[in-house]
Amino acid sequence: MNASAAIGVTGLGVMGRNLARNFARHGYPVAVHNRTPARTRALIEEYGSEGDLVGAETAAAFVAALERPRRIMIMVQAGAATDAVIDEFVPLLEPGDIVIDGGNAHFADTRRREAALRAKGLHFVGVGVSGGEEGALHGPSIMPGGSAESYAVLGPMFEDISAKVGGEPCATHVGADGAGHFVKMVHNGIEYADMQLIAEAYDLLRQVGGYAPAEIADIFREWNTGRLGSYLIEITADVLAHVDAATGAPFVDVVADAAGQKGTGRWTVQTALDLASPVTAIAQATFARAASGRRELRAAYAGLPGGTTPPLSATEADRFASRVEHALYASKVIAYDQGWTMIQDAAAEYGWKIDLGAVARIWRGGCIIRASFLDRIRAAYRADPDLVSLLAEKEFAREIADAQVPWRETVASAARRGIPVPAFSAALSHYDTLRADRLPAALLQGQRDYFGAHTYGRTDREGAFHTHWSTEG
Ligand code: NAP
Repeated sequence: MNASAAIGVTGLGVMGRNLARNFARHGYPVAVHNRTPARTRALIEEYGSEGDLVGAETAAAFVAALERPRRIMIMVQAGAATDAVIDEFVPLLEPGDIVIDGGNAHFADTRRREAALRAKGLHFVGVGVSGGEEGALHGPSIMPGGSAESYAVLGPMFEDISAKVGGEPCATHVGADGAGHFVKMVHNGIEYADMQLIAEAYDLLRQVGGYAPAEIADIFREWNTGRLGSYLIEITADVLAHVDAATGAPFVDVVADAAGQKGTGRWTVQTALDLASPVTAIAQATFARAASGRRELRAAYAGLPGGTTPPLSATEADRFASRVEHALYASKVIAYDQGWTMIQDAAAEYGWKIDLGAVARIWRGGCIIRASFLDRIRAAYRADPDLVSLLAEKEFAREIADAQVPWRETVASAARRGIPVPAFSAALSHYDTLRADRLPAALLQGQRDYFGAHTYGRTDREGAFHTHWSTEG
């Protein structure tokens, strides 16, 4: 076999086969390999004519088919399967070769693997790939970590196969070692928050506004033409407009209300706790999914008293939709701001140099949270790469100022009526926490000093102080 393939893809499941086809369609000779060779044969048979796809049935033949430095992209399940594949290929590689993990690995695993392979003279590049099956084939958002040297080789290929927005690729070198997988994890955390906020907006429009699912679909279609314009709003409108063929009922009414999760939202929240990043809207969105699936707990709470306020009149309902739009937008800005803060915190912790505007740029296409609004985030970080918060940018600050009354009214009307809005409330509380002149944290410090002599700082003097509570109290 000629050593002429520009890249090799091993793991030809849903994602791997489509990424391999995407590379081939862009003119790259691709070697393909899978643990079960039947899958390799099937891919060549079905799609071999699309481009230069070469099937390899053994690891040795696969490696032999690659030009140097070899580029091997692993597309298998995160965890033990990825380690098994790395262990299989590493002995066959030579210094300078590049091992790429395009699975949904935890960034800490990526850091571990990168260090281990670096010690052997190999590059290890953890790559966040977003956009699912379709994205992998037609253009995903690609978030590679690893060394700058490896990106010099891989970057042009990733940029070629990625989604494009305004002619710009949705791929960039995010930062060293696990930075790519970290940023992909935060993308998914933001996705959880965005989806929950949209779901809460739907619930309010339905339960308080009195709109039917098809009417809410129309409202979302309208919102999709404005500042909320995004893939998630667009698909939400489609889901809400969908009618169940078996019953003739709105689809949303026949779906069991227990949300699933694969774990990246949970990783985001767990990691945020370690970094002390206050990602409260993301956390509440993750907990909301968990709570929705707790049947016994929900049964125990069922029937307990809730709110009592009567439905709105038609005119109130009209204004209500616009209030919800403000609340959704303001909460969304906060959730995204929380994600970016978390990326900044991780960059400081792990020594990553991350271009925060570039992160917004590569999320404008290919991925689930793609939205017109990301252009604004990109512009904000372009104007000031060290921006501490999106709310420090004057346009975002103005929008949040404009949203004050409707945002608060929306959350208050949900609370009065007993409608759960965990993500809306978390976003609003986050805003109020960070803008507060004085926080009750001062009282906490008193409590901590009282029971644990943990000491406290003072507003009038530098230093750490302790009160002898039994004698001074
Ligand atoms: P998939 O369709 O389930 O395919 C899994 C692949 O992994 C198969 O080719 C399988 O080979 C191989 N594999 C599993 N265990 C292995 C082992 N121990 N040794 C060697 N090969 C092994 O998975 P997928 O959806 O393509 O996902 C691949 C990766 O991409 C995962 O990390 C996933 O989290 C990530 N990802 C998925 C999506 C998505 O939307 N699906 C999006 C982004 C990222 P056999 O054919 O021999 O079983």
